[in-house]
Amino acid sequence: MFTSLLIANRGEIACRIIRTARRMGLRTIAVYSDADREALHVELADEAWRLGPAPAVESYLNQNALLAVIKASGAEAVHPGYGFLAENADFAEAVAGAGSVFVGPPPDAVRAMGSKAAAKALMHKAGVPLVPGYHGDAQDTETLAREAEAVGYPLLIKASAGGGGKGMRAVERPADFAEALAGAQREASASFGDARVLLEKYLQRPRHIEVQVFADTHGNTVHMFERDCSLQRRHQKVVEEAPAPGMDPARRAEMGAAAVAAAEAIGYVGAGTVEFIAEGNAFYFMEMNTRLQVEHPVTEAVTGLDLVEWQLRVAAGEVLPWRQDDLSLDGHAVEVRLYAEDPGRDFLPATGRLDHLRLPDGLPGVRVDSGVQAGDAVTPNYDPMLAKIIAHGANRPAALRRLRHALEQTGVGGVTTNLAFLCDLLDHPEVRAGGADTGLIGRARADLIAAGEALPEGALALAALAELERRRAEVAVEAAESGDPHSPWHTTTGWRLNVETHLDLRFAVREVEQVVRVRYRPEAYLLDLPSGSVDARGHLADDGTLDAEIGGRRLRGAVVRRGHDLTVLLGPRAYRLIRLQPLAGAESDAGVDGTLTAPMPGKITKVAVEAGAEVDAGATLMVLEAMKMEHTIVAPAQGRVAEVRYRMGDQVEEGTELLVFEVAAEKEAGAA
Ligand code: ADP
Repeated sequence: MFTSLLIANRGEIACRIIRTARRMGLRTIAVYSDADREALHVELADEAWRLGPAPAVESYLNQNALLAVIKASGAEAVHPGYGFLAENADFAEAVAGAGSVFVGPPPDAVRAMGSKAAAKALMHKAGVPLVPGYHGDAQDTETLAREAEAVGYPLLIKASAGGGGKGMRAVERPADFAEALAGAQREASASFGDARVLLEKYLQRPRHIEVQVFADTHGNTVHMFERDCSLQRRHQKVVEEAPAPGMDPARRAEMGAAAVAAAEAIGYVGAGTVEFIAEGNAFYFMEMNTRLQVEHPVTEAVTGLDLVEWQLRVAAGEVLPWRQDDLSLDGHAVEVRLYAEDPGRDFLPATGRLDHLRLPDGLPGVRVDSGVQAGDAVTPNYDPMLAKIIAHGANRPAALRRLRHALEQTGVGGVTTNLAFLCDLLDHPEVRAGGADTGLIGRARADLIAAGEALPEGALALAALAELERRRAEVAVEAAESGDPHSPWHTTTGWRLNVETHLDLRFAVREVEQVVRVRYRPEAYLLDLPSGSVDARGHLADDGTLDAEIGGRRLRGAVVRRGHDLTVLLGPRAYRLIRLQPLAGAESDAGVDGTLTAPMPGKITKVAVEAGAEVDAGATLMVLEAMKMEHTIVAPAQGRVAEVRYRMGDQVEEGTELLVFEVAAEKEAGAA
């Protein structure tokens, strides 16, 4: 066994590989781009080397930079993870050329599966069933259109060099073929530098079932059962499980044998995945991924094996110690991928700063593979996956229960994620029943995304409590800094007026104003919520975590604040509120000086008012697009827009004064 391992990757997969390598006593070597200088994988490794600037082509995809680090660090082996250079045969060869062991299959096996079309031709020869279609060399429009007729509609055009769903188009009828083909070719050529496509019959309600294979350098190949990855958005996986619901032993053996045949046909070594698309009892080869998959933890959970450990051992020349019959399944495992993305905007990747991050910790049967920490920036440079949460149980319902419970213990603030969507998806009857097809998310999307939008009272109470606690902390600092810390003017309990005082906290929730009247009690606040008054108290931590007791019930949530913008995290759900007309007095960033500022750098995409406009509290004044997220600048109170300083299309820095606002004469009763 080699003694050092360089991980040519980042994020959760780099962290995951480092953990196993360290357990095996290897010296771990991380690499990083400028954007990842403080990243978790850099922290976890024994040593770390800079590759270059943030863009992947200049860092994680930069073969020369990687080879230089491999040499300089003396790394005896290199694990590519997944993505980046994991399926790049030239890189695998260059690593070997540099005298290091590439932890992966032989370059020729990677090349054989590199083109979907060539792989299909090869699999056809090996007797592996294929989706009816065309994967020939002729690529002129006429031939393709004719072949399309033969395949029949609906059909799918796929980029031969494809991956990640790029260059893929479904076509319903012949009239749309030419345009879809042109689109697929354009995308394929832009993404892969290769415009070639293949055609496949578009299966109507298929499932994605893939088989994990493993081979050593001594001619042994086994499979480690299947994973069902049918829950997909935009043809990309978000939930995976092992084993596949409804799989019977005979069919499992048949698919396993087909996968092993596929691997053997190309002289495969190490961990690989043979992907099938299944409909009814039929299954067809789609492609083989010649690397570790994102979803490998579900296989690890049900087999009890560490696949990275076996990748390393196989790379070091060890013999696989099992025959097929030695491997068995234990229970059921389900994984979800937590992505920085916006389900409400067709799952568009989201960026921003992870102001608050809570991941499940120490739950039985739950594993979390994450590559991020609170405070990290999620940038458009890399894949937006934040973490994987995997639950294992004696059976499928038990695994799902554990996973669902684990998601309740998860919270992300500062970046839009698919967390609430994942919860709703796991609650969907078809998912609970098992065996859903790849179209489920597409069909159920409207329902899934509409669910959970109404603001629960608990979230409103947390928002109010956080604002009060924040104010109290500020006043405490002011008091400590002033000459007379005991001055009654620094009290926030409201007793100084010697009458019962109150304060109205006003929020806008999707443009609707919500008022929470607050009265002060000796040890708590009394909050008037829509359904009645409750006592509330709590402790607000610096990262926004709020441990509260509201109406006699403990509630743990978080309130993340950016200017007037509040995000309340309650369980796995995030609710956005805008604070209107903040506490009168010295709040620093609350527009007291009459200007409204940009909460982050971005571009102005809408100017909704002109100077002189009289507006109500909560009215939209401007929309700023920052890092693919929209921020609405709203009127903090009823009043008049005195000045509009920027125009649509302008680029502004964080803190730029966008508008001057005059608050209408104060009507609020009471003061703090
Ligand atoms: P990529 O490599 O770009 O991710 P794949 O070939 O792996 O593309 O396909 C991705 C997904 O697209 C599959 O998991 C499946 O849901 C869907 N898909 C692929 N081929 C077909 C097909 N012939 N019919 C229906 N759906 C398909």
